[in-house]
Amino acid sequence: MKKNKVYRSRAGRRRNMALPLLLVLILVAVAAVLLIGLDAEKAPDPKPGDSQSQPAQQPENPAEEQPEKEPESSRPEEADPEPEDEPAAPVEKLEGDGKEIAIPASLAGADHLFPAGNGDYRLILVNKEYTMPNEISDLPLKNIGDGYRVQADMYDALVEMMNDAKAAGLPLYIVSGYRPIERSRVLYENKVQEYLNAGYSEEDARAEAGMWIAPPGTSEHSTGLAADLISADYYTKLPDLLPEFEEFEEAKWLKEHCAEYGFILRFPKGKEDITQVVFEPWHFRYVGKEAAAAIMEAGITLEEYLGVA
Ligand SMILES: [Zn+2]
Repeated sequence: MKKNKVYRSRAGRRRNMALPLLLVLILVAVAAVLLIGLDAEKAPDPKPGDSQSQPAQQPENPAEEQPEKEPESSRPEEADPEPEDEPAAPVEKLEGDGKEIAIPASLAGADHLFPAGNGDYRLILVNKEYTMPNEISDLPLKNIGDGYRVQADMYDALVEMMNDAKAAGLPLYIVSGYRPIERSRVLYENKVQEYLNAGYSEEDARAEAGMWIAPPGTSEHSTGLAADLISADYYTKLPDLLPEFEEFEEAKWLKEHCAEYGFILRFPKGKEDITQVVFEPWHFRYVGKEAAAAIMEAGITLEEYLGVA
């Protein structure tokens, strides 16, 4: 205690001695500024990627831009950044529909997930009824930026779509990509626990949690073929991922053009009875151009397209 007092006292004396010196320095600085002529308008240009730069400046790669704000915790399943080790790079335009994607070997035996029966991974069906039996351990993934990964073949189509949206003045931002089943399990069980803590029975807690977070094995984010996309300024206007996103120009553009890149609006409005998921104007699923055109033109769901609805 005594030591502290001594220290403070010495420090106080040093401050007293420093004050006149500080005043002199300030006077010198003011004089220098007057001599040179300070131009307040001449602010430095923002660096690329600077948080001050406007989305309208159209960065080279939309996937490298951050959303204004992280998604809120009430929908944590819609935002789960994965560790990233390399930035995404723009790719050349795809020619035609591209090849079918082979089904990963780790899904051998999970024939129920492929009602189309043609061996094309792009047409995998995962929902609350068609559950993934295990993690896809051999799924090729690619970093799309902001810590998100997607299936490697779908990556090309997604980057092309995002680049074209940007060129149309509507930069898109990814807020969810590949999500391992194990990650879904953690998110889901956390939500269940919230309801248990609030006094719900085990059964009710699981039912309620399932309304918000797809139970493990039932989210197509675990296939790597789904992406949640929003506009640059989304979180300045809406607090969470909400159906009102459909009114944004970005959502309208996505709905109109997604099929050109092989994507579908996976959970459309008015089809909740079939998908068992609320209307999600931000959730896009890669199915390939042929299936996407058929689904979006007919205004149907993947379940209907595959004949299981
Ligand atoms: Zn989603």
